[in-house]
Amino acid sequence: MHSSQWLCRCQRLTTTSCRSISNTWLTASFNGTSPKLQGRSVGLFGNEMLKDPSGFKSLNEKVRRTSAQMVQNILTPSASRTDTTVKLFDDLSNEICCAADVAECIRSVHPDPKFAQAAEESMIDFTELVESLNTKRELYDAVKMSLTTEKSKLSDMDRRVIDMFLADFAMSGVHLPSDQRQRFVDLSGEIFEAGSAFARNAYNPVRLSFVEMKALGARDRHLSYPMHNADCSDIRHLAHNLYYAHSNDQEKLLRRLIECRHELAQLTGYASYADRAQLFSLLGSADEVEQFLVGVIEELRPQAESDLLLLLDLKQKIGDVRGESGDTVGEWDISYLSSVYRQTKFGRHSEIDRFFTLGALMEGFGQLVGQLYGVRLELDTAAPGELWSDTVQKLTAYQGDALLGHIYCDFVSRPSKTGGDCHFTVRCFKMLSEEKSQTPIVVVSLSLPSGSPVYLSPNQGETLFHEMGHALHSMLGRTKYQHVAGTRCSTDMAEIPSNLMEYFFNDSRVLRTVALDKDSGEALSSDQAKQLIAARSALSALETVQQAVHALFDLRVHGCTADAVCRGEITTTELYNDIAQFALPNVIRHPRSAWQHRFSHLVPYGARYYSYLVARASASLIWNSQFKANPFSRSAGDRWAAVQSYGGELPSGQLLAKMLGFTPTADDLVTALKREIEDSSEKTQ
Ligand SMILES: [Zn+2]
Repeated sequence: MHSSQWLCRCQRLTTTSCRSISNTWLTASFNGTSPKLQGRSVGLFGNEMLKDPSGFKSLNEKVRRTSAQMVQNILTPSASRTDTTVKLFDDLSNEICCAADVAECIRSVHPDPKFAQAAEESMIDFTELVESLNTKRELYDAVKMSLTTEKSKLSDMDRRVIDMFLADFAMSGVHLPSDQRQRFVDLSGEIFEAGSAFARNAYNPVRLSFVEMKALGARDRHLSYPMHNADCSDIRHLAHNLYYAHSNDQEKLLRRLIECRHELAQLTGYASYADRAQLFSLLGSADEVEQFLVGVIEELRPQAESDLLLLLDLKQKIGDVRGESGDTVGEWDISYLSSVYRQTKFGRHSEIDRFFTLGALMEGFGQLVGQLYGVRLELDTAAPGELWSDTVQKLTAYQGDALLGHIYCDFVSRPSKTGGDCHFTVRCFKMLSEEKSQTPIVVVSLSLPSGSPVYLSPNQGETLFHEMGHALHSMLGRTKYQHVAGTRCSTDMAEIPSNLMEYFFNDSRVLRTVALDKDSGEALSSDQAKQLIAARSALSALETVQQAVHALFDLRVHGCTADAVCRGEITTTELYNDIAQFALPNVIRHPRSAWQHRFSHLVPYGARYYSYLVARASASLIWNSQFKANPFSRSAGDRWAAVQSYGGELPSGQLLAKMLGFTPTADDLVTALKREIEDSSEKTQ
């Protein structure tokens, strides 16, 4: 069972007719301020145990007591018991997740350090409880046995959920003989230590010599970022190579992490960690993922090369050609030149800033999901003590008369908030009986400025749509089990609804319903909308190939190259350089430059960083075949809502087949990305 789940800690790859503003409740609420709630506290999320920080301790005690009884019930089968083991196990998982997920969310968002601290302690206790259950051999045996003893009562979906529970157990090594089990525990500890140290050091500043300080025009002896925004190419070049210089310490930690993960994977019957990481994913095996990523690089390379030529032209035009690098584009140039390119070609966006207010965006999002799914988002009045900050807004989602669930919108940035933009699942959908269900609760946390109204950049607007896409995925869930509800599916599948929402945002027909002048309510003009979208999609081939390079490194270092890395036959810097050179041979780079030593995502993602590219490609297939002709189509919306309602109950391939009529292969996904790039290059002409 998972103790908690969060998504999108800013790990994203990119990061109709005109409607005049109707100063309605949603616009007004999100563009204004909310009143302070007075009265007797009902507790966070309406949980009366959570009226004050000490409530977390009582909550943990209650959950520990109840779950001990539930475990006992699972382990003592009786003739009178009608529920299946998988149902009982999901109930147990639900009992813990409902509490642990609240703790996980509150520790990240609560501004009161006492609450945050209490939630943190609660999390530690729940993690220990989950770990002790996941290593309880009798429980594993009971769940496994039920595949045989309860065979006649189990559907394909029940069996799939059992397989997922067993896979979670296997992640703790519970199924191993005792000598191997000890090795498993030791390796897990080492992975945690090496991974934490690697991620921590990934942001270490570089100590500069006086000569380097002078060359960079730096006042500080420490270089804490690669200065990619400097307008002199020589400075960018030097700063980049200093910041990304190969570090023996990081190499040692990364190698240790890979060695332990590789051994752990082999101990549990997999050829490599990369193979182990593909369990339940759309592509299913490391070989398929390799084929996908190499395909993306090879198919998109010609367009990426054209993007590079544009940047080189620009570099020569703006006279940024000092030193030896005048007729080439270096790794250090790409970010700076891309930003200058967008500004020169499409202009600065300052004149459209007033069109992006949070209120109008939320209002427009609400209308969109109304048209697509018949879902109504209503602003709800929270009770005293239900919220952790006055700036949080509570939305309730309905479909017809049916209550779907609650979305708490915590959009304003606070110093105490950790984790960046994300979507927390606080409670999952689950059928409690034939008629009764548990409604989902989610929190969408963003880091927007405060104000009245709040102005967003187009990127922030897109992020809002992305995260609200996750929230709707959770609201639409109709699963028998909470273990597979809403976004609780493989990462690639979980990111499809949110990525699809980005396609909606970047369509001029939709954009013009959400980008409204603050004062007059007039929509962005059609030309402005098209120009903005063109600017946002410019150079996307180059960006996509760069993402594929990062993902391919993550895959190979955990997969086909892991043995060679472990034996010291190749350094990770050589491996990264080989991939970068293969992908973009005309981008100049220093072979000892070690971008991967600062790539902390290697730790949490471990051979799954590619998932976002798969999700984007899948979303692109859905957009083009179902929504591009009419982004407000109710019939396509209903079909998509039905697919989302399955959460992870069905394999991702089957879910996509319900929407597309076929299960996309690695090649189909490559073609989808290629087509998307071709479309966006047409827009930028
Ligand atoms: Zn996401």
